[in-house]
Amino acid sequence: MRDDFPRYLAKELDVADPLAELRDRFVINDDDLIYLDGNSLGRLPAATPDFLARLVRDGWGTGLVRSWPTWIDWGRRLGDQLARHALGARPGEVVISDSTSVNLYKLAGAALDATPDRGTILVDAEEFPTDRYILQGLAEQRGRILRRLPSDLDQGLRPDTLRAALDSDVALVVLSAVSYRSGALLDMAAVNAAAREVGAYVLWDLSHAVGAVPVQLTASGADLAVGCTYKYLNGGPGAPAFLYVREELQATLRQPIWGWFGQRDQFQMRSDYEPAGDLDRFLVGTPPILSVAAVEPALAVLAEAGIERIRQKGLRLGELIVELADAWLAPHGFSLASPRDPHRRGGHVSLSHPEALRISRALAAEARVVGDFRVPDRLRLCAAPLYTRFVDVWDAMDRLRDVAEQRSYLRLPATPSRLT
Ligand SMILES: *Cc1c(COP(=O)(O)O)cnc(C)c1O
Repeated sequence: MRDDFPRYLAKELDVADPLAELRDRFVINDDDLIYLDGNSLGRLPAATPDFLARLVRDGWGTGLVRSWPTWIDWGRRLGDQLARHALGARPGEVVISDSTSVNLYKLAGAALDATPDRGTILVDAEEFPTDRYILQGLAEQRGRILRRLPSDLDQGLRPDTLRAALDSDVALVVLSAVSYRSGALLDMAAVNAAAREVGAYVLWDLSHAVGAVPVQLTASGADLAVGCTYKYLNGGPGAPAFLYVREELQATLRQPIWGWFGQRDQFQMRSDYEPAGDLDRFLVGTPPILSVAAVEPALAVLAEAGIERIRQKGLRLGELIVELADAWLAPHGFSLASPRDPHRRGGHVSLSHPEALRISRALAAEARVVGDFRVPDRLRLCAAPLYTRFVDVWDAMDRLRDVAEQRSYLRLPATPSRLT
């Protein structure tokens, strides 16, 4: 028992937690395992297996092709729910489709095609790799320059760095609302306003924001956004992503993959491509229904919890991680690699340590705490509010301190593996 922050205080926080009972909505069949990686792959909602089994048996097995009328607009229906419960967007602005990478390509391509006389794309130099690579490819294909804005690994992009780079040659700015590594949270409204002043589009990657922090796409004046449904949204491994296009832009922007699901009057099978008049034009091909379906029971839990309550709990969980890291881990060489102000962080906390890779391995293998490692020396810890208890955070930090104290990690290999 630690004296400075005794375990019973964490238990008291759980007793007072209005979301505590939602933990039962998830499959948790290993009580000793502490899962702090819900920002990478969210837990399995308890309702999902039966929901999918019924869909497979009845929808596919019995209904066969006759089920398509209920399936075909599923991504739009779920998109509307996601817009309402987590994204602050209007009906008809969000759809579940493809992967985040592909959606990013489609929407970035659309923005570039709409701005042929502008030469520059801006991205955070520390942006998630797929975003940077896709933009690099687009820049090369379309003869544009990709400018990588220097940003602090722990604190994120500074607003004045972005403002200094914005001018009338900028076609597109691509940024994550919450940084995948540090968790640094950007002021979306301020970025949108600054970009609008120079006539540039902003494309937000909300992968680490959606389901963790309230996003207000309409109120913040956002143009375009994409994001994952398998992180805080618990849609399952490789669950299809979402894309958002502000209604006012839908009739003019055109995306570069001309598939039949984006075609006006799809089943007229016309000879030439003519995009649908609404959000459908940003679709490509037949949706993976079994994966789309898994997003539905997951969204139901989010809707029940309410994104504001999720954020409130997330703020407190994050503060507990930071407080215990300061008290117990700093003496062992850890330092905070995220903004210290909780309102400038998303749903996870990063700690740096020269041995972070081996520590994260020892933590999982010996201490049964699953977080993850990110280059160069970061340990990411995510206490996803829907299913993580304060006492889980306490126990995880306690075990982490034991690992650091006993240095058992020194016995493990320090070589990167396929997944790090
Ligand atoms: C997780 C993540 C992705 C993943 O993209 P996929 O196409 O699903 O592989 C993209 N961008 C960001 C910022 C992410 O955090």
